Order: sequence, then structure tokens, then C-alpha cells
Amino acid sequence: MEKREQIYEGKAKKVYATDDKKCYVVSYKDDATAFNGEKKGTIVGKGVVNNRMSNIMCQMLANHGIETHFIKELNERETVVKAVEIVPLEVIVRNVAAGSFSKRFGVEEGTVLQNPTIEFCLKNDALQDPMINDYQILALGIATREELDVMTEMTFKINTLLKEYFAQIGVKLIDFKIELGRYEGRIILADEISPDTCRFWDAETNKKLDKDRFRRDLGGVEEVYQEMLARITK
Ligand code: UDP
Repeated sequence: MEKREQIYEGKAKKVYATDDKKCYVVSYKDDATAFNGEKKGTIVGKGVVNNRMSNIMCQMLANHGIETHFIKELNERETVVKAVEIVPLEVIVRNVAAGSFSKRFGVEEGTVLQNPTIEFCLKNDALQDPMINDYQILALGIATREELDVMTEMTFKINTLLKEYFAQIGVKLIDFKIELGRYEGRIILADEISPDTCRFWDAETNKKLDKDRFRRDLGGVEEVYQEMLARITK
């Protein structure tokens, strides 16, 4: 496996082509952004935590029948993944009200929802990732009905597995965002699962163990990223 030219640079990751058309190398950065890129900063060591944590999550999910993009960890920041065509949607699941959900619906943060919810947002920075419903997704040809059904079922199954996994390490999974991709005609899990993309609260104290510490200037940002990795690897 040989790393070739960079084909994409996002806010938190770079993606490289390889000598194998079916594989990319993802490289995780310490750069952090929030509020659609308005707030910028660095979280020292974040790239290492997110790379390792995402890979551990992908392997756990794969053991439970969820196909993911993960192939092989190369080093502490880089991983070989399947070269998927990303479906340009952010798929958000919520178990507990927080963030934009609390704001939009006037529900206090921390309110346990009576059932998990799913939301789709169009991945488009210029439009600030607007929410989009099933009919709008179909109308724009972003995904087919069959793909949407698969994505929805997979996403709720991922929620169930992640919730159980984090409960075992004393962490409440409040909400998270995933991205899915097309690979050999199948929909598979792509992108990361990390404190950048999930809200994690300590089960005992409700201490925030995720990127909200950066977004809201709560301090101890680096420490909670390390703490999450430590809980997962111990
Ligand atoms: N999220 C993300 N990327 C985004 C937007 C949201 O990873 O571009 C995650 C976020 O970390 C949280 C969940 O999705 O775990 C729900 O985020 P929310 O809609 O509340 O938005 P936010 O409060 O981050 O603006």
C-alpha cells in the first residue's frame, strides 16, 4: 500500500489516494472548528484520539454486522479506508436533547427523549448544512428510497450498539453524527466516530467529555479527549 497525492482536505482530516483505487488513506489533524468554521482552534492530540477511537468503534460495529470503511490503522494518525462515494448527508441521532435540538424546540438540555430521533442535514458548508427531509432528499436525487431505508435502519442499529458500548464505560451517548457512503453498491459507514462527532456525558456527573468543551470554552478540552480514549482502551 503506497500513499499517493492528497485528494481532499476537510476541517479535521486529509484524504490521500493510494496505489489501490479501492483504498484511501485518512489522516487526522488536531485542527478544530465549530459553528460552521466560525470558531477555529487546535486541540493538541485530537487527531490521534479520533483516529484510534474511530477505528476501535468501527471494529466493534463490524463485529456486530455493520459494514464500515475501516481497513487498517497505519500509524497513530493515519488509517487505510475503503474508497467510498460519500452520500452528502449528515445523519444525526439523538437520545437526549442538546445543542441545536434544544434550541430549535425549546427543550432543556439533558431531557431524555421518549424515543431516539433521526435527522438528515445536507452536507454543504456554504448553505450551513440545512436540515433536509426524506421527500426533499428523493426530490433532489441525493439518495434512493431503498438507500434511505437502509441508511435509517443502519443508523438506529449503530445507535443501539454505541449506546450499549458507552454505557459499559460509564458514558451516556447523548447524540452523534455519522456519514454513510456507497461502496460496491452497498451503503456502509464512513467517516469518524469521535468526541468531535458525538456528545458524551459522564454517566455519574454529566460532565461533558466531547467537543462541546471547545465550542463553549469550558476548558479541559485536551484532557477529556484523552479521558475518552483511556476509558475505551483500558
Ligand atoms: N455534529 C457534527 N458535525 C456537524 C454538526 C453536528 O459532528 O456538522 C454532531 C455534534 O457533535 C453532535 C450532534 O451532531 O454530537 C448534534 O449536533 P447539533 O445538531 O446539536 O449541532 P451543534 O449543537 O453541534 O451545532
